[in-house]
Amino acid sequence: MSQSDCLFCKILAGDIPADIVYESETAIAFRDISPQAPTHVLIIPRKHIATINEIGEEDEAVVGSLYTAARAIAATEGFAEEGYRAVMNCNEDAGQTVFHIHLHLLGGRTLGWPPG
Ligand code: AMP
Ligand code: ZN
Repeated sequence: MSQSDCLFCKILAGDIPADIVYESETAIAFRDISPQAPTHVLIIPRKHIATINEIGEEDEAVVGSLYTAARAIAATEGFAEEGYRAVMNCNEDAGQTVFHIHLHLLGGRTLGWPPG
């Protein structure tokens, strides 16, 4: 399940420290080390899935749980009504740098659209 060379699998295993803000049976969330908004949290599945392209039908509940986490964290952080963004990058053109899928949850400021 976990991949020895994967940064986020190492965070899941507790081998690399992270500021964890949410945990469920299928997902965890922690603060991004280089925040792009007042709140910038990464929500990841406990299962190692490299990119959106590797999501299988059997992963639908797990991937759905990332959004359940986003909803809960947005409420806790206090910007659920003001608004926020939950976005996942895939591969080079989108700027994906860590190949364990993660939902970026950004909130606490007005966010421009479209992203650059
Ligand atoms: P992406 O570019 O979509 O793959 O996003 C990867 C994110 O992981 C970036 O926003 C990084 O700032 C973040 N990141 C990298 N290393 C860590 C770490 N050790 N702890 C928390 N966030 C990290
Ligand atoms: Zn991983």
